[in-house]
Parts: sequence; C-alpha cells; structure tokens
Amino acid sequence: MKTYDENNVFAKMLKGDIPVNKIYEDDHAIAFADIHPKAPVHLLVIPKGAYTDFSDFTARASNDEISGFFKAVGKVAEQQGLPENGYRLVMNTGRDGGQEVPHLHVHILAGKKLPM
Ligand code: AMP
Repeated sequence: MKTYDENNVFAKMLKGDIPVNKIYEDDHAIAFADIHPKAPVHLLVIPKGAYTDFSDFTARASNDEISGFFKAVGKVAEQQGLPENGYRLVMNTGRDGGQEVPHLHVHILAGKKLPM
C-alpha cells in the first residue's frame, strides 16, 4: 500500500493552500479544468478523500464515497452538456499508467472526436 502524499497538488487544492477554480463541488468531489488541456474540453474530477489512485480508492473507500464520486463524474459531464456528443473518461493509475499526481482523479476529455 502506497503512503498518501499530503503535499500533492490536488491535496493542496482541497486544503485551500493553492487556488482552484471549481466548476463543480458536492460532498464527495470537486471538478476543475486541467491546466494543460489535451482536448477542447479537459476536466478533472477528484474525490475529497485522501486516496492515491484507483486501486487505493476501491480498496479503502466506503461504498458511499465510491458511489458519490462516480455520480459526481456523471453530474459534471451532464452539467457541461457532454453526454449528447460523448466524452472519454481516463484514470491513469500508478507508474506504468502514467499517473503524475498521486491523488485519484478522472480525466473527462471531450469537444471533438478523440483519436484512440
Ligand atoms: P495524471 O497524469 O493522470 O496524473 O494527470 C494529472 C493532470 O493534472 C495532468 O493532466 C496535469 O495537466 C493536471 N494538473 C497538474 N497540476 C494542475 C493544476 N494546478 N491545475 C489543474 N490541473 C493540473
């Protein structure tokens, strides 16, 4: 089990130590635009709880946190009008998955037909 890094950039956002322009917030999650967008729409949704990655989340989070987080992802997509044309969800996990920030996050990519 990896130790959660309390000083990762998303942890700092959640603590209010660095500013974040939230486009969505509820009891379980916040969402904001990715600082280096890789699609016309590139949003990140993160849980409020301290979870390193998808494996950590599914192992330790409560059913309430897990369902709340995934519902939040769906609400963000809906709020941004994405379901009609579609979108892609990405959860990079760990070193080989290319994860850079060690706080669980879902990328929402949309706004054009995305290449595989
Ligand atoms: P990953 O490679 O899956 O860990 O993705 C981390 C994402 O976080 C990258 O797409 C970064 O562009 C994004 N990111 C890093 N710092 C910030 C920040 N301060 N605000 C918004 N997005 C960020």
